[in-house]
Amino acid sequence: MEYEAIIRLEVHAQLLTESKIFCGCSTTFGAPPNSNTCPVCTGLPGVLPVLNHRVVEFALRAALATHCQIARTSRWARKNYFYPDLPKGYQISMYESPIAQQGYLDLTLNGQSKRVRLTRIHMEEDAGKNIHDTSSDASLVDFNRAGVPLLEIVSEPDLRTAEEAGAYLRSLRALLQYLEVCDGNMEEGSLRCDANISVRPRGRTEFGTKTEIKNLNSFRAVEKALHYEITRQSETLASGGRIVQETRLWDADREVTRPMRSKEFAHDYRYFPDPDLLPLSVEDDWVQAVKATLPELPAERRDRLMRQYGLPAYDAEVLTARKDVADYYEAAVRTYPADPKAISNWVMDSVLRVVKDAKLDAGLRITTWPCPPEHLGTLVRLIGEGTISGKIAKTVFDAMRTSGKAPDTLIAEQGLSQVSDAGALEAQIAQVLAAHPDKVAEYRAGRERLLPFFVGQVMKATQSKANPQLLNELLKKKLAE
Ligand SMILES: [Zn+2]
Repeated sequence: MEYEAIIRLEVHAQLLTESKIFCGCSTTFGAPPNSNTCPVCTGLPGVLPVLNHRVVEFALRAALATHCQIARTSRWARKNYFYPDLPKGYQISMYESPIAQQGYLDLTLNGQSKRVRLTRIHMEEDAGKNIHDTSSDASLVDFNRAGVPLLEIVSEPDLRTAEEAGAYLRSLRALLQYLEVCDGNMEEGSLRCDANISVRPRGRTEFGTKTEIKNLNSFRAVEKALHYEITRQSETLASGGRIVQETRLWDADREVTRPMRSKEFAHDYRYFPDPDLLPLSVEDDWVQAVKATLPELPAERRDRLMRQYGLPAYDAEVLTARKDVADYYEAAVRTYPADPKAISNWVMDSVLRVVKDAKLDAGLRITTWPCPPEHLGTLVRLIGEGTISGKIAKTVFDAMRTSGKAPDTLIAEQGLSQVSDAGALEAQIAQVLAAHPDKVAEYRAGRERLLPFFVGQVMKATQSKANPQLLNELLKKKLAE
């Protein structure tokens, strides 16, 4: 029997506001424990929450960019549960009346596009953090994160494979980064994901029993945990077993999911409207004003890059995955508009490789680029004009990174210009041919496969500075004599 997975993701995105959602405390990550706290976010008696206007604005940005219907009136709810990192004994969230519903996100995977429906987007406050110190056997709690604003973005069960779930999460992260509402850093926990998953025999329409997987703190973890869980559930059902509805934890070291607790239901939380906060009313003017500030979004930009520069879909996808990468690419193309595809290759192969190796892409913005986009544009122009070869360009690129100098300066300083002088090349060719009379004879007897050998020898003699096109031409002429 073949099984099909049904996956729904619940994503929590920490918002990049400077202060918390219901008080004026700073949201700065990494501050000393409990330094960003006040009576409101530590839940002291008698305090009242005051809503941060900017949090609603960020929620509207995300809702508009995902084509959601925005509720003119929505309501705050208390989600009641006990945990030491939750000082009030409840979390302020939204329940039956969220700010946004019924949106969608389009993703592309292996050249195919797929629409994933969004059930809802709502705002809520984050909890603090428990720290279990094994050396002193103490449990500590840090409330710096308590009250940091979150968006919860819930998809419909439209995803069918682990790869689709990964692609959805990547698209969503790119979108939130474009909107500048979340930095998308999964390692620091500013983007978190829980996955609901069930399997059913292919062809059946009703859903099977689902489990929820927590602790997915990287794209790799999401995909691996889903693969594991799809296999586990399918094998359980195939052998006549039963799936238990429960919350499972992804163990990244052992690469397995294991039971954490039986799945809670909504009624376990005793939701009720928060009496300390008025219903949230969003006027149409405000929605329109936020709409007017939305940037060009990743999907639109991808299509435009393909149209405007004739880029393949793959290139456009890679370049628009981050707004700053797309900005960098377009700045380089403005320096040298004659060959947008060559610039795309350089950005993907060289620039992004350095960025990834040095982990310069952890935050919302890449702060240190290997070189300014203008220098990259100039480098590609110098290759296009035949001043340097592609091979030498790699050397120049590395020197640009370490010195910060412009490519033309480096080429002049290090004498890296290509030898395009036919006379000089002919002299080098003559030397090479004289040194290898046997090979020349073989070539002339019909072994034309030897041409690259001669090219290599001349290149070696010129330290790779020979203009390859001219060299090929001259060599063939000389060998035909
Ligand atoms: Zn506070």
